[in-house]
Formats: sequence, C-alpha cells, structure tokens
Amino acid sequence: MTTDGVPQRTGNNLDPWYANYAERAAGFAASEVRALFAVASRPEVVSLAGGMPFVSALPQELIHSSMERVMRDQGPTALQYGGGAGIPSLREHILDVMGLEGIRGASVDDVVTSTGSQQALDFVAKLFLDPGDVVLAEAPSYVGAMGVFRSYQASVVHVAMDDEGLVPEALRETIAYLRGQGRRIKFLYTIPNFHNPAGVTLSAARRPEILEICRQNEILVLEDNPYGLLHFDEPAPNALRSLDPEGVIYLGSFSKTLAPGFRVGWALAPHAIREKLILAAESAILSPSSFSQLVVSEYLSTADWRGQIDTFRGVYRERKDAMIEALSEYLPQLSWTNPNGGFYVWVTMPDVLDSKQMLPRAVRELVAYTPGTAFFADGRGRHAMRLSFCYPTPEAIRLGVRRLATVVNGELDL
Ligand code: PMP
Repeated sequence: MTTDGVPQRTGNNLDPWYANYAERAAGFAASEVRALFAVASRPEVVSLAGGMPFVSALPQELIHSSMERVMRDQGPTALQYGGGAGIPSLREHILDVMGLEGIRGASVDDVVTSTGSQQALDFVAKLFLDPGDVVLAEAPSYVGAMGVFRSYQASVVHVAMDDEGLVPEALRETIAYLRGQGRRIKFLYTIPNFHNPAGVTLSAARRPEILEICRQNEILVLEDNPYGLLHFDEPAPNALRSLDPEGVIYLGSFSKTLAPGFRVGWALAPHAIREKLILAAESAILSPSSFSQLVVSEYLSTADWRGQIDTFRGVYRERKDAMIEALSEYLPQLSWTNPNGGFYVWVTMPDVLDSKQMLPRAVRELVAYTPGTAFFADGRGRHAMRLSFCYPTPEAIRLGVRRLATVVNGELDL
C-alpha cells in the first residue's frame, strides 16, 4: 500500500510494526496477570506469587571473595570470550553436583553450561521443535517452559499427574491418542522433583516405567531439575538421567542452590545432541559469561556449598511448614499439596471460585498468588493457584494466607 509513493505501515496504533512480526512472535504475549504483578511488588503486598530464591541466606562475603580471587588470578580469562560448551573447571564441579542426584559416569565433555537452565530449555526447543510438533508435559507445568515451546510454534499436551507425579497409564494413553491423530511428539518435558507448580515428586517406582514408555515410543525425555537438592526430609529419588543416559537430556541450575543472578545452568545430553547444543549456543550467544562461570566455579572450590544448600533447606522447610500450618488454620475448606522440597504449594479451590477473577480482589487485600491457568496450555486451572513460600518470611507467609482467607471467604460469601 502506498500513498504518494510513500510506503504505509499496516500496523496498529500501539505498534506500527505489528504486521511485520514473524508468526512465532505471536507466542510472545504478556499475560494478563503481569500488570497485576507490577502492583503486587509493592512492599505492603505479601507476594506468594514469584519464585525468587531467598538469596539473603547466602554467605555474601564468600561470594565477594570468590569474585576478587577470580579477578586477581584469572582476570584475562574472566573478561574474555570462552568456549560454547562452557568453562571446563565449572563443568567438573557440575559432575560432583549431579553425583548427589545419582548421576555417575558422565564425562565433562557431556556437560554444556548455559545462561540459566532457561536458555538450555530454549536451545533444546530450537533443536527439536518444528511448528505443529507436540511436547508432552505434566498437568500443570512450568509456565516458562511452555512459553519457550510456544515460541517455536509447538503445542503442549498435558499428561495427568497425581501425588506420585506423572501417571504412567495416562502417558501411554496420551501417546496412543496423539499418534492416532497423526501428531508428531518430540519429547516429554518433565520436572520430576518438587514440581513447579504442583509441589509433587515422581516416585522412585514410577521412574523406570515412565522411561520405558518413552523408550518404547522413541520419545526423548527432557528432565528439568532445578529444585532436586532442596529436599526437606528424604532426598528425591535418583534422577531419570541416572537410569537412562541415552534417552534423557538433563537440565540443572545454580539458580536455586546458589543464586539466579549468576545466570548459570547446564545441560547434560547424549553425545550427538550435546554437539548440536554447543553449536546452538555458539550461534545464539558465542559463549556463556566467562566471569559468572568462573565465580561460581571458584565458590564451589572454596566454600562449603553442600552446607549452604543445607542452610537453604532449613530456611525453606520452615517457610513451607508456616504455609501449610496457615492453610490448615485459615483455609481448611481448600485442599493443597504438601511438598517435600522446592518452593511451591498447589492449592485447589471449590469449583465456584476462579483464581484469575479473584486476583484483583486479592491484590486489594494486599496478597498475591499465581492463578492456576498460567500453568496450563489448554485453559484449565481456574480453580487452582500456586503459592510460593521461598521468599517471604514465615510471619509474612502467615499474614499472606490470612489475607487470602479473607478474599476466599469474601468470594464464597462467608
Ligand atoms: N525450570 C523450572 C522448573 C523453573 O522453575 C525455573 C525457574 N523458575 C527454570 C527452569 C529456569 O531457571 P534458571 O534459568 O534460573 O536456571
């Protein structure tokens, strides 16, 4: 379209470039709850919405001295580009970290570091997903992963989970149904430990069964495990990757066991996939941050990082207990999961309540949560919400749940 030879843009008033975006950009839509979260970050609001680790529990001095030593002893390396696979000394430490989850016998060469595990998720999606492909994921699933899959124009199909995690029979049925429809399933995305948002853990008994179903159907497993070491009682069962090195891509992260500000995560992948991941990383970012990786590596070499993870466990356990007690006291008419680790409790409400509709009222009462719909690709979750106990103090959690009870009871006209 031209007027007097001048090209006219076919956009709208808000964005003159609207018509020019690639189709995949349609997946980048800000959620309606995002604006409310801006309000919810006011200090007077108790936010049970975000998943921010309580970094104040970290030994700030030790981190500071790690940074200083990195600059003193390895300054030119820290300030330089690195390799696409990441810094070798850090990848050695990562093998030790994964050893705590039962992963043994992996080689440093099989580890690729990334800018948080979120970026590894993006690279895996970029390598495997074409428009129209299907990713299987628990019902509900991590909102940030579903956003990545959507950005590659894939569809997420949910598989039922219960108190023991993903239900094997439901997985079998879903695969058979989708195959019957001629759909192409690329991988199963799963968070087996202290699930975000559901708070449940895949039982040891089900792990080999889930892997066997995927193996029989030639479906790759993408195991996302940022919370595995943050258990409150028993450690989580061994990682899926420890049972099937060829069929699983494992994603790990220092965001929850150390600090998300470093943006250091990793993927452990079967050999051929690992090569492609490195190429994807080099094409997207050349190399992950040398400085961040070296500081994390130095911290792991010199600090009692296992002891620090124990400290985090204690902090989060106390907060989880505070949340469960407050729910029992103030909201006995609802039901919830009682996680044995991680950051989240999944609350189910009576059908007459809608967590998305209720959120503005909650923010007026100075409490915020994440509506359940955020964690489903198919519109489900209206009668559920995710409460996180990682960041607020136990006192703030009690106050927040009390305020939530006022909102819920108000909606129920009690
Ligand atoms: N996976 C899950 C399940 C998460 O909860 C998160 C962060 N909330 C991530 C991946 C991404 O974490 P990061 O990029 O900080 O490692």
